[in-house]
Amino acid sequence: MEKYVYGVDIGGTNIKYGLFSLPKMELIQKYENSTPVSNHETSIFMLVVDTINSMNKKNNIDISQIEGVGIAVPCPVKNGYVEKCPNLKWEKLDIYSSMNKYLPSKIKIAVSNDANIAAYGENQILDIPHKNAIFYTLGTGVGGGIIIDGEILEGRTGAGGEIGHMHVFEGTEPCSCGLSGCLEQVCGTAAILKQSRDLSLKYPTQLNLEKLTVKDVF
Ligand SMILES: [Zn+2]
Repeated sequence: MEKYVYGVDIGGTNIKYGLFSLPKMELIQKYENSTPVSNHETSIFMLVVDTINSMNKKNNIDISQIEGVGIAVPCPVKNGYVEKCPNLKWEKLDIYSSMNKYLPSKIKIAVSNDANIAAYGENQILDIPHKNAIFYTLGTGVGGGIIIDGEILEGRTGAGGEIGHMHVFEGTEPCSCGLSGCLEQVCGTAAILKQSRDLSLKYPTQLNLEKLTVKDVF
């Protein structure tokens, strides 16, 4: 009997799903729904399992054919444990036991931070994956993932890959993390737009400051 796995990306706005067949990891179906806004802890896991069940049904797959579910979350994770996730309003949550409440226990659950999983995934699809690699995610903020000896570096608290908060300059303005002088404060989208606006006060510019995007700045 054929075996399958799921990848689930839980974001603050949407939850994205991919159903893959083993052993070749071929994509069978993609799906997306909105992240529940109330009663987050249980509602998110119930929705994820409901969606997995309905995707199984659509593809004539029995739950016993599911080998594992890999989950990405938008916060630091250490051994499946989340201390705090503001985007999902989670606090002190063990994702393994939360998922195991709703899924047969023989299904393997793997959990990590979304940028860590992006780093791992991008590395893994190379013809020859790197043993050691650093991966940047550039958006409003700066995230990332670090691969050491082929494994995700979680660090002591799960924030090992959060390179956006490396100290890179002597700054005085506070960063969202509470410190100052972070990498994110010079090269995140928000930081680039702010610097452009600040510079436009001193120098003439052709930029449309009302609808400014990072693309325009570049
Ligand atoms: Zn910071």
